[in-house]
Amino acid sequence: MASFIGTKKKIYCPKCQHVVGDVVIIENREWLKVNGIAVNVMRGVCLECGAEFHWSISERMLSQLVEHVIKLRDS
Ligand SMILES: [Zn+2]
Repeated sequence: MASFIGTKKKIYCPKCQHVVGDVVIIENREWLKVNGIAVNVMRGVCLECGAEFHWSISERMLSQLVEHVIKLRDS
């Protein structure tokens, strides 16, 4: 069993805010947890509003890197 650290935050549909799943940290990496399954990529369509949904580890890591660089630049 991987070292499961815990739920970090919820992931919502970007359009209607319907809850998609949770971000969990397992061995220092973020995963998306949906119905008890940790996934590294998820794409699909929200059944509440029809919005396209896409989440992936590689994009999350890139997004955190960019946020970090922006913070450094602005400080
Ligand atoms: Zn939605």
